Amino acid sequence: MFKYVFGPVPSRRLGRSLGVNVVPLKYCNFNCIYCQLGRTKYLVNDQSMFYEPEEIIREMEIAVKSRDYDYLTFIGDGEPTLYAGLGKLIRWARENQGKPLAILTNGAKLADETVRNWLSELDVVKVSTDTCNERVFRMVNRPHRSITFEGFINGLEEFREEFSGQIWSEVMLVHGVNDTEECAEKVGEVLSRYRPDRVYLMVPTRPPAEPWVKPPTSETLIKFANTISKYINKDRIFIIDSIERGEFYIDKNDPLNSILNILKVQPMTIEQIMDIIKRNKLEPGIVDELRKFVKEVVFNGIKYLVYSGND
Ligand code: SF4
Repeated sequence: MFKYVFGPVPSRRLGRSLGVNVVPLKYCNFNCIYCQLGRTKYLVNDQSMFYEPEEIIREMEIAVKSRDYDYLTFIGDGEPTLYAGLGKLIRWARENQGKPLAILTNGAKLADETVRNWLSELDVVKVSTDTCNERVFRMVNRPHRSITFEGFINGLEEFREEFSGQIWSEVMLVHGVNDTEECAEKVGEVLSRYRPDRVYLMVPTRPPAEPWVKPPTSETLIKFANTISKYINKDRIFIIDSIERGEFYIDKNDPLNSILNILKVQPMTIEQIMDIIKRNKLEPGIVDELRKFVKEVVFNGIKYLVYSGND
C-alpha cells in the first residue's frame, strides 16, 4: 500500500505527473487565502524529517519501474521544501530514473542556500509570485513571520542566477484582491527581476481556504496578461482557468488508497471520481468508502470532494 507516491495524474503543465508527497497535511510556510488544501494548520519555516527518506525511496523504486509518466514531481500536503529529506530523494531520483524531475513549491525556501543546491538538480521548479509588495503578500499568502517579501524575491533572483533549468512561475489571481491593473504592473516588474521561463496566470478552480475567495473575470485575466507582457515575453505567458482533464492512474489492487492519495493533494469533482470508477471498472460503492475521509464542498456551483485528514 503506497503512502507517498501517487498517480500519475493529469497535470495541465507536466503531462502525466507521478507525484511524491513529502509533507503531511498541512505544514506550510504560507497560509494562502486560495489554498485548495484548506487553512495552514502548522505555519512553520523550519525543516523537519517528517518521514524516513528510505520509506519514500522504497515506494519510488517500485513506481518508477511500473508506471508510465512524463515527470516525477515532488509535492506536499503543504510546502515540500520543508521536508529535511528532500535533497536525498532528489539525488536518488536523479540517479535511478531517467524522466525529468519537477517540484511544486511556493519558492520561499529558495532564500536558503541548501535548498537552492537541492533544487538545482531538478529540471523544472514551479514557484509562486502572486503579489508585488509586503502588504499584498501578507494579505494573499499570509507567510510565516520570518519571511519578508523582499527576502522571498531575493531568493528567487539568487536561484535564477545559479539554476540552468526551467523556472515556471504561477500567479494566482483573486477577484478584487490582486487582480487590479496596478497590481499587474507591479507583478510584471517583480517577475522581470527573476525572469521565469514561463508564467502561468491561474484562477482558483477548487474550493479555497477562505470561502469569500472568487476568481476574476476572463476579461480581467486577459487584461492582466497583456499588462505583464510588457515585462515578460508574451509567448511565455499562459492562462489556466479550468481544472485538468485526463486519466488518473489507479492501482486496481488498492483503489481506495490510490484515490485518497490523490485527494490529499487536490480536491476532485464528483464527475472526476465517477470517471475514474468507470475507466477502472471499480465498484460504485467506493464513493461511500471515500466519504468517510472527505467532505463535500460546493465551489462556483460545482461539487468537490475535499480530503479531511481523517485516515
Ligand atoms: S497554496 Fe501552497 S503555498 Fe499556499 S498555503 Fe497552500 S500549500 Fe502552502
